Amino acid sequence: MGSNYKKIIENAYKLTNSLKDKGKLATYIPELANVDPSKFGAHITIIDGTHFGIGDHLEKFSIQSIAKVLSLTLAYEIVGEDIWKHIDVEPSGTKFDSLLLLESYNGIPRNPFVNSGAIVICDILITHLDNAREDFLEFVKDLSGILDLSYSDKIADSEKATGYRNIALCNFIKSFGTIKNEPDVVLDFYFDMCSIEMTCEQLSQTFGFLANGGRKLTDGKKVISKSKCKRINALMLTCGFYDESGEFAFKVGLPGKSGVGGGIIALYPHNYTIAVWSPKLNINGNSFKGMKLLEEVTTHSELSIF
Ligand code: GLN
Repeated sequence: MGSNYKKIIENAYKLTNSLKDKGKLATYIPELANVDPSKFGAHITIIDGTHFGIGDHLEKFSIQSIAKVLSLTLAYEIVGEDIWKHIDVEPSGTKFDSLLLLESYNGIPRNPFVNSGAIVICDILITHLDNAREDFLEFVKDLSGILDLSYSDKIADSEKATGYRNIALCNFIKSFGTIKNEPDVVLDFYFDMCSIEMTCEQLSQTFGFLANGGRKLTDGKKVISKSKCKRINALMLTCGFYDESGEFAFKVGLPGKSGVGGGIIALYPHNYTIAVWSPKLNINGNSFKGMKLLEEVTTHSELSIF
């Protein structure tokens, strides 16, 4: 990205902020309903390490489903290509917590980013790691450089208390044999994974490895191979926004991933990562303002993968 990226982001932020936000908070997780709906921040990290943020970019928020990319990364590194025996790589065309397609596909989730797929990834991590809860946190600490990173018990407990659909999903998948461990154990880890909090700045830096051929931006350390990096980016492009993935590719043109906390991470391979946070969600469960800001940024910078 050229030197004018700050101006482009400032303009996109101003314009998006002037629009009427038609979104709604994710109240199905009670703790997320307590978040100030007017929060809005964005942070870009260029692959050379320079970065720039605006608005509430230094405030922590619940990254929710954005963490699914990180759990996939760890599971893919451990299991290799065999992982695709348990999860498909196709867009679902359904809501993130839908049960619909599991019946037709014998308990094989359509992709790792819908809840069913991410729950299966949690099961795989529990099977292959001594202590998935601790080991996953260590992995994210190493990626992000956030040494005091922890799960938010408040958010995880809040989601667990009302997580009826995820409980149904996990039990349903278990009935097909795709899940090996006990549903309670898998769900506890899933809710913990989704409860991680980061700022936009931290999020954009954590995802740097996916814009850098699988290597961390800070020390060049290999996280995953180039081929796995390509595939994770492809999945983010085709499945990262649930039933709005096509629209995101159409309007923004970048691989990305959203979360119901109102965060979005998007990246342009070999160029930059950008994180946005605005808590009010559109009907597809994606941040209303976040989607708009990213559309403005790639339109005016002319820097998308297409
Ligand atoms: N923890 C959330 C859930 O399972 C994650 C969903 C999301 O961020 N899209 O419902």
